Amino acid sequence: MIIIKSDEEVVIMRKCGKILAAILDKLRTEMRPGISTSRLDVIMADESAKRGVVPSFKDYHGFPASLCVSVNDEVVHGIPDQRILEEGDIVSLDVGARLNGLHTDAAITMGLGRISNKAEELISVTEGSLKSGIARAISGASVDDIASAIQHFVESRGFSVVREYTGHGVGRDLHEEPQIPNFVVGKGPLLRRGMTLAIEPMVNAGDWHTKLAPNHWTVLTADGSLSAHFEHTVAITDNEAEILV
Ligand code: MG
Repeated sequence: MIIIKSDEEVVIMRKCGKILAAILDKLRTEMRPGISTSRLDVIMADESAKRGVVPSFKDYHGFPASLCVSVNDEVVHGIPDQRILEEGDIVSLDVGARLNGLHTDAAITMGLGRISNKAEELISVTEGSLKSGIARAISGASVDDIASAIQHFVESRGFSVVREYTGHGVGRDLHEEPQIPNFVVGKGPLLRRGMTLAIEPMVNAGDWHTKLAPNHWTVLTADGSLSAHFEHTVAITDNEAEILV
């Protein structure tokens, strides 16, 4: 069942999203060669506590950290550890926060220092595909319209969209219906005002297939190619979607 949020709930999610965006900005400024991924986890936990939100991922189905950090060929769900980030890495940060029982969810990918032209292009195409998907997220359109826009944007530029993981409804739970695939699967549910959705293309430089790391969390590209990830939480309105974070 798709949960339609009341205006009051969207107000809370907007507030939660503003806080999460500020935390993401703080993380962005701390990202540099030489920092460990576990340090980013500490910053996420500290900044969340300071700003009165709860990190959504901590203990979610047993996830051991407050955010996901996925480096290079890691697609999503990377677990922070003692790994030191290096010049040339591309790093995806995926963060979620809960305020008054409502979640928002967002992700960015950044290059550290000088990165390859291919990596640069992958990041910009992934971010562009998210924008093109959100542009289609209007009341009366279908989930498939979002998927189609993202898939076309990515594949026409020579990259591939991950298929085993998708975007999702978000709000009272971190993951709600509907699923928001980044590829066309057939006409999905129609969008209507009050739906809150996490739209999140995961894009590989090579083939779309993924594999699971031995830690049973971290998702990697099957062919070892680079992967990027961007995510916004949006609210469907009577006009264009509102980006909450
Ligand atoms: Mg998500």
